[in-house]
Amino acid sequence: EEYPEVATPRLPALSPSHTESRWSDTSYYAAKKKKLRSWCQLPDGYWSLGKILSTSGSESVLSIPEGKTIKVNSDCLLPANPDILDGVDDLMQLSYLHEPSVLYNLQYRYNQDKIYTKAGPVLVAVNPFKEVHLYGNDYIEAYRNKSLESPHVYAITDTAIREMIRDEVNQSIIISGESGAGKTETAKIAMQYLAALGGGSGIEYEILKTNPILEAFGNAKTSRNDNSSRFGKLIEIHFSSTGKISGAKIQTFLLEKSRVVQCAEGERSYHIFYQLCVGAPPALREKLNLLNANEYKYLKQSNCYSIAGVDDAERFRTVTEALDIVHISKEDQDSVFAMLAAVLWLGNISFTVTDNENHVEAVSDEGLSNVAKLIGCDVLALKLALSTRKMRVGKDNIVQKLTLSQALDARDALAKSLYACLFEWLVERINVSLEVGKRRTGRSISILDIYGFESFDRNSFEQFCINYANERLQQHFNRHLFKLEQEEYVQDGIDWARVDFEDNQGCLNLFERKPLGLLSLLDEESTFPNGSDLTFANKLKQHLNSNSCFRGERDKAFSVFHYAGEVTYDTSGFLEKNRDLLHLDSIQLLSSCSCKLPQIFASTMLTQSEKPVVGALHKSGGADSQKLSVATKFKSQLFQLMQRLETTTPHFIRCIKPNNSQCPGTYEQALVLQQLRCCGVLEVVRISRSGYPTRMTHQKFARRYGFLLLESVSSQDPLSVSVAILHQFNILPDMYQVGYTKLFFRTGQIGVLEDTRNRTL
Ligand code: ADP
Ligand code: MG
Repeated sequence: EEYPEVATPRLPALSPSHTESRWSDTSYYAAKKKKLRSWCQLPDGYWSLGKILSTSGSESVLSIPEGKTIKVNSDCLLPANPDILDGVDDLMQLSYLHEPSVLYNLQYRYNQDKIYTKAGPVLVAVNPFKEVHLYGNDYIEAYRNKSLESPHVYAITDTAIREMIRDEVNQSIIISGESGAGKTETAKIAMQYLAALGGGSGIEYEILKTNPILEAFGNAKTSRNDNSSRFGKLIEIHFSSTGKISGAKIQTFLLEKSRVVQCAEGERSYHIFYQLCVGAPPALREKLNLLNANEYKYLKQSNCYSIAGVDDAERFRTVTEALDIVHISKEDQDSVFAMLAAVLWLGNISFTVTDNENHVEAVSDEGLSNVAKLIGCDVLALKLALSTRKMRVGKDNIVQKLTLSQALDARDALAKSLYACLFEWLVERINVSLEVGKRRTGRSISILDIYGFESFDRNSFEQFCINYANERLQQHFNRHLFKLEQEEYVQDGIDWARVDFEDNQGCLNLFERKPLGLLSLLDEESTFPNGSDLTFANKLKQHLNSNSCFRGERDKAFSVFHYAGEVTYDTSGFLEKNRDLLHLDSIQLLSSCSCKLPQIFASTMLTQSEKPVVGALHKSGGADSQKLSVATKFKSQLFQLMQRLETTTPHFIRCIKPNNSQCPGTYEQALVLQQLRCCGVLEVVRISRSGYPTRMTHQKFARRYGFLLLESVSSQDPLSVSVAILHQFNILPDMYQVGYTKLFFRTGQIGVLEDTRNRTL
């Protein structure tokens, strides 16, 4: 049996809304009578494959696995693909493309360690959580010489390289998925392939060595992933005109700095802290007065020091070797370690109450003296910066003492800033080392490894930013797929204006509109001295309630209708996180330090503050450094990223996590389904459905259905035969278009023809 070129008919089952997922196509009811395989949704929501035994009225009886029979409402049935289509390597080859058939196909492949599947132009990767034998030089060679063509990261990367050379256009590989889905591993696999094909100059080796460094400083063990990246990353790999790697540039996004001072039970702070504590050689230990990890309060709070199967001491050696390779001098490395130790010691600084108004002072103990020594400042200056705050009242400068909670905030803010600045500095230094060929004559391939859409029980500012970024990326994704579609229609002379297309622009407007969008209102509220999370939430409700992507919720919460579903955000902490203030006193302290890094950090913070402002004065009345809000900075980074991606040919990889326990062999349908909906795999199909998804050449169409013609056609050319068939079956003009080479049909249109054909055969 020969299948039409594009799956047909397609079902309206692929939108995020579950209710749309029923089918009432006449051809399926015909099929039901034929006792074909069918998907049946069991009362617990799971889909089971069964065979229809009988149908009467709205009820059907099916036999399902393990010798059982079940009676269900026919609404619970969806057509199943014939078993010759089990495990096809492109979902688009499925005749019936709906949620259960997609789920089943991925699972069928997953069980055979075929973790990669195409969904049209998109590569779907299901995390195996074990070593699969799909990588290494033999495989690289096989994909390079095209003796292997099954879906793979190597295949996508190979296409990117070829298109870069052929079209002379920059390429991008955009990887997304939930935490733990395999994005970072996938990015490394792609880099491995690029290094193998574009290597030679030796720079590829340096590029690969950035991975252990960035992972040490930017990854941590979380409840979802033992090696979770807590930042987004774009690595742009440059090629010379001869196709060799000539350099690279890394950009990072939104490092989660709160983890440095606060970390949930069972999770860890950044790997590098633990690596340093167990891996530092004796001389370094002594120089930094290092303790064991469990003696530092910042690390102790989560009560987790090691990761199963990971040797932190050995990793420390790997990281220092990698630092050598990217040309970070031993001296600079020592400065880096000193900053890490300073952060750890900051957490051990404690405060005592000095008066009856609850004002406090930092205790002069080893915490304080070690921090002072490590950053190179005076102990008293440090003590003052952590316990007091200089303020302007009218024309006078006064010094205000801090309460315990203010002092702890000041201390933690300093620790977070030190770490975030260190991370940025390190990335910059790596970039200097990687940018070998300064003149960029060639082309580039960028790999984006960025957090996917997040929806938790409680969603805060971080999810707000992440989901906003995903909304932008989704639009990019949609537009690209739409463009691919459009090209095909235009090539075949189809009237493009009649193809509708749904966009998520409405939701983006909700975020970006000025002055009444989520981001503007957040920034505005953040500048008000009396602004609070509650006043912010109220303002949103006041201005945005008529927006169809927005809903005000009780108390301080609001919901956004994202493309991937509804998310309710709790505004608690939004303003604070958006302002992200570091006391001016702390910045001044850093700039007075004798060590190089704190000085550099202080000057970056000060230059950042010259730009437009948030939080000139805030609630507690302090004179803070004026700086860009976190949301604004993130938005501008995101815009730059999008602009850069717009100039590239994108290749999409969607990573899927088959279970939450990081274990091999377990495929949880509901979990996978929810990710397929969120990461737009099902959307790919919805987009193609929004136009004329079924296509067949005139020849094929005439061959397939010509024998159904009741009257003979004067001309036997395929086009005339096709048109006669269309007329005979009364296919409405709105439902199809005739292209130069193909016929294009709306969803489901070919069902009647197929049905008649099947009955006739
Ligand atoms: P993400 O970056 O999406 O949060 P990671 O790339 O860190 O997820 O993957 C999480 C874990 O899953 C890895 O540490 C690894 O154990 C496993 N993993 C991911 N992809 C693969 C793969 N292709 N082969 C084997 N294991 C993998
Ligand atoms: Mg990651």
